[in-house]
Amino acid sequence: PDRLSTPERRSEDADAALRPKTLGEFIGQKGARENLRVFIDAAKGREEALDHVLLFGPPGLGKTTLAGIVAREMGVGFRATSGPVIAKSGDLAALLTNLEEGDVLFIDEIHRLNPAVEEVLYPAMEDRALDIMIGEGPSARSVRIDLPQFTLVGATTRQGLLTTPLRDRFGIPVRLNFYTEDELLQVVTRAAALLDAPVAEDGAREIARRSRGTPRIAGRLLRRVRDFAQSDGEASIDRKCADKALKRLEIDELGLDAMDRRYLTMIADHFGGGPVGIETLAAGLSEPRDTIEDVIEPYLIQLGLIARTARGRVLGGKGWKHLGLTPPRQAQD
Ligand code: ADP
Repeated sequence: PDRLSTPERRSEDADAALRPKTLGEFIGQKGARENLRVFIDAAKGREEALDHVLLFGPPGLGKTTLAGIVAREMGVGFRATSGPVIAKSGDLAALLTNLEEGDVLFIDEIHRLNPAVEEVLYPAMEDRALDIMIGEGPSARSVRIDLPQFTLVGATTRQGLLTTPLRDRFGIPVRLNFYTEDELLQVVTRAAALLDAPVAEDGAREIARRSRGTPRIAGRLLRRVRDFAQSDGEASIDRKCADKALKRLEIDELGLDAMDRRYLTMIADHFGGGPVGIETLAAGLSEPRDTIEDVIEPYLIQLGLIARTARGRVLGGKGWKHLGLTPPRQAQD
């Protein structure tokens, strides 16, 4: 694999070991899974490449995993890269011309492609062709190169981050949602078996319950809890043992971490519960706006701790309660 295919984002290649390899092994996301099953079988039946797929949802919900599964289920090759890694249109042209018939090309963080690169992608997706300019000045001319049939699988945190022309070129948009506690229990149980970690059912459930609806977090917490259990000489990870370790990791009862609490506390203490604008919050927390919108807020909104309103973020009654604070009078309703 060339340099362009090396995704820089994943320091935690621990992820790879736990990745389900087939649609059947993939837990949760029932609707998405069932639809993909139909589209994959239909494309295979016609001996065609699968239509382009856009996966969107918060980090750690299984976008990379699903992209790999699509390739495996289609029985084709898999090439992975990410938006920021493809610096020039020539880089993308090189990737595309190296694809084999039917391959899946996975572009993570596809909303971060630079516009010149994105332009090259349009005819590639639509006509499976590449228009390249050769030469400069008066002697320059455009040459069209045919590409093999391929499936682009793009991943992004929010569908709305994509430009309309790019979004419109995906025939199969797939939204991933946070996992339920029962689904995460399956994720933890499966991971514990793969890691050979001695986890009791109530211990696995405790980890699942506090994983922020996110399989990647479930896997990470399982590893850390196992470390604590081992260092404490525990034979098995039960609920009590998991709870003790999670407390030491500063993961609270709802599964929120220190950053989540810093966010909630900021709105409560500095802005009287809001509404407060996202830019103001980003400045106050010294965190990039993207991180707040893509990583922190979706789960807090899902839990009903905060709400996004036209005038800014507002701490809800549940949010105040979770912080152990009493809301000011006007915020109580
Ligand atoms: P994303 O690309 O959305 O950030 P990944 O596909 O890298 O997320 O998944 C992160 C981790 O969570 C991986 O270790 C993967 O094995 C695990 N994971 C994600 N979805 C599932 C699932 N449905 N079932 C089991 N494990 C999952």
